[in-house]
Amino acid sequence: MMKETVSRLATEKIKPLVRSMDEKSEMDQSVIDALFENGLMGIEVDSEYGGTDTTFFNACLVIEELARVDPSVSVMVDVHNTLITALFMNYGTKEQKEKYLPRLCSDMLGSFCLSETESGSDAFALRTAAVKQGDYYVINGEKCWITSAGHAGVFLVMANAKPTDGYKGITCFIVDRDTEGLSIGRKEDKLGIRASFTGTVTFENVKVPESNILGQFGHGYKYAIGMLNEGRIGIGAQMLGLAEGCFENTIPYCRERKQFGKRIFDFQGMQHQIANVAMQIEAAKLLVYNAARRKEAGLPFVKEAAMSKLYASEVATLTTSKCIEWMGGVGFIKDYPVEKYFRDCKIGTIYEGTSNIQLNTIAKSIDQEYQ
Ligand SMILES: Cc1cc2nc3c(=O)[nH]c(=O)nc-3n(C[C@H](O)[C@H](O)[C@H](O)COP(=O)(O)OP(=O)(O)OC[C@H]3O[C@@H](n4cnc5c(N)ncnc54)[C@H](O)[C@@H]3O)c2cc1C
Repeated sequence: MMKETVSRLATEKIKPLVRSMDEKSEMDQSVIDALFENGLMGIEVDSEYGGTDTTFFNACLVIEELARVDPSVSVMVDVHNTLITALFMNYGTKEQKEKYLPRLCSDMLGSFCLSETESGSDAFALRTAAVKQGDYYVINGEKCWITSAGHAGVFLVMANAKPTDGYKGITCFIVDRDTEGLSIGRKEDKLGIRASFTGTVTFENVKVPESNILGQFGHGYKYAIGMLNEGRIGIGAQMLGLAEGCFENTIPYCRERKQFGKRIFDFQGMQHQIANVAMQIEAAKLLVYNAARRKEAGLPFVKEAAMSKLYASEVATLTTSKCIEWMGGVGFIKDYPVEKYFRDCKIGTIYEGTSNIQLNTIAKSIDQEYQ
């Protein structure tokens, strides 16, 4: 049911804007509004806070469905649901939930601020510092690559509040957009997912009350890693939807286009490639759905989440590359959506842990299983 609603919204509302949003490198405000209006920005949030009160699995289906049409819209929804509202739901106090969740479900985007210039894969080497002064903390530092920062009304900021404890000083702070000293810097000009805002956020003597700590002092590193473990399944779903969307936009062309007096689909050389890619998309789907199912059932899922994200991003890479080849010259131009899927898929091997980091996680899990 939810999948059908999202599919309709994606086709009727988002699809006509995809190309211009990509060209302008800008998310249309009407798309953001429609996502809120359709209950897609608080998918797992309890209804008492204005959320849709459904499951993580459904969140993944929504992310997949949106990525079929626009992976940029999909990642905005993914970050908002699997990182931002999830952090508030899991670790927020009653007051924090009451203050932020109704807005996050109805009209306010949030951003997740972990990465910095010098700490990417090595996320816990972050330098942003929070120094206690009376009942307040003063935050100084710069975050980079922050998704949706240009639109966000609230930022969840990982800052070290006790550097002498190393990464165990990392604490998660809630910082409102209009707090003095917070500024949004450069917006990146990207290869793909261009409509999704990515940019720097600077904190210059940003003063937040102690009550703005989300969860426990010094637990920020746990929350970040825990949320990213779950979030990876969402990125797997994004890459899956992207591959499906690209494939669906290509096959009808292969079934129509004629060369040598035959449909190009009729050449066995084409058929075997198409069958092989279809099989890999199906395998990615099973990995993503299984990881989501395990997470929802309370089973261990970290290895499966890493596998699903890594594999789905590889399948998206293969699918988009093959689709361009199957379409020949027209696959290479912007009149068709295929070249955009090709550009958009690359990010799947980078954010929420690069492919090497997923391999590290998988190997670590195997090592532990054999202990
Ligand atoms: C479009 C976009 C949106 C993003 N959104 C957000 C966001 O909303 N919030 C946020 O906090 N961050 C965000 N990020 C940051 C993203 O999570 C990082 O870019 C990512 O974690 C990789 O870090 P890095 O870019 O510093 O690469 P590096 O860590 O410098 O990696 C470079 C290369 O080294 C390899 N490498 C590094 N360490 C190891 C190792 N131990 N073993 C093997 N290989 C290794 C990597 O695999 C990679 O190939 C975003 C990034 C992009 C591009």
